[in-house]
Amino acid sequence: MADSDARVAPEVARGNMRRLRWLVPIFLALNLILLAVFALDDSSSTPIQQTWRQSLMAVYSVTSLVLVIALLIAWRMGGQGQSEGLTRVLQGAAPLAFLIFVVVLTAIDQRVTSSINPYLLGCMSISLLLLLPPRTAIGLFAIAYVLLFVSLGWTQNDAAVLLSNRANGFAASVLGLVLSLGLWRRNTQYILLRRELTERNATLEKQKEELVWLATRDALTGLYNRGECLRLAELELMRTQRHGGFTSAIVLDLDFFKAVNDRHGHPAGDKVLVHVARCLLAGVRATDVIGRIGGEEFMVLLPQTDIDSAAGLSYKLRRLLHDSPARINNDLSIAVTASFGVGSMPGGHDGTVAALYAAADNALYDAKRLGRDRVERTEPDASLTPSDYQRMRRH
Ligand code: GH3
Ligand code: MG
Ligand code: MG
Repeated sequence: MADSDARVAPEVARGNMRRLRWLVPIFLALNLILLAVFALDDSSSTPIQQTWRQSLMAVYSVTSLVLVIALLIAWRMGGQGQSEGLTRVLQGAAPLAFLIFVVVLTAIDQRVTSSINPYLLGCMSISLLLLLPPRTAIGLFAIAYVLLFVSLGWTQNDAAVLLSNRANGFAASVLGLVLSLGLWRRNTQYILLRRELTERNATLEKQKEELVWLATRDALTGLYNRGECLRLAELELMRTQRHGGFTSAIVLDLDFFKAVNDRHGHPAGDKVLVHVARCLLAGVRATDVIGRIGGEEFMVLLPQTDIDSAAGLSYKLRRLLHDSPARINNDLSIAVTASFGVGSMPGGHDGTVAALYAAADNALYDAKRLGRDRVERTEPDASLTPSDYQRMRRH
């Protein structure tokens, strides 16, 4: 079996089982209708025609019984426990049984007609309704033709008709096989292409997620980057404008961080920054947004929070940082403190994010000026613009 055939075989077998699930009841209904037609129509006059009719009724009866039993077994199994092996056996056994059925009908028909229509129809329907792996198809059509060849010999007495029917049967088998092989090839390619597309889609989706991460996150700490942090702040302020209340922001900057780098080296400084990020994440709610908005400057965005609560959280975070030195290695822990500025804004128009940031930054400036490792706040005033805050800072 070609490699591609082996890769699609289980999926094809499952598809065939799904098709058999609705083909069997239809086939059963067809059998019962034909049985009824032959039972009710008693127009056969000669003994040969009577035998032909009774033989057909016998075949339809036996087939219907077999189909009912098959349906009962399938219903009892309820789809569970259908192993792959059983599925594969059924996918060969069902068309074989059907081809034997049409061969028997064709042989019986030779009593009253010289046509082999059941066989022709059977070959075409098997090719079109089930997807047969090439080897299975070759085996099935070969067995079916041998059976037809032999059984025609038993029931067709006219040598010329026998020859014609065997030749036509051969052509039907070859055409059925060619059709079956062609459909198998096309479906195999389709399944493989669909799989490849699904895999590529998943890869693209993953790459998209990675790109979004890279565009919105800070590579060192994994926190939001400055751009994303300010974008989220803008969204939050728009939400606040609709629902009322305040959005607050805490801006914090590590104290004397240059000295940490100078004394312990840049890599140790990086570890301190990661440690600070972890402390901040541990200290806030899941709905709060934390970003690294500069080298050693962080922002905590607090949706639906007034300035008193934001200041309260700042005291808690200041204490947390103050009390938990960053452990760099077994021999070295570095104590860091930070200065905190707190600002708060009602929701608003363009420029409100800049005003919120400026209010918090202004308070941070005060915290640095007043000795560091402390929290300062700027009272909310929606009428002030970012440049007002800048001006306030200069005086
Ligand atoms: P202040 O208390 O006034 O904030 O003093 P400071 O030393 O923290 O302030 P300053 O702005 O003078 O220095 C900030 C330092 O932060 C300078 C720079 O070396 C360091 N820094 C900025 N980004 C990074 C980074 O990604 N990794 C490391 N290790 N250091 C950084
Ligand atoms: Mg600093
Ligand atoms: Mg700084």
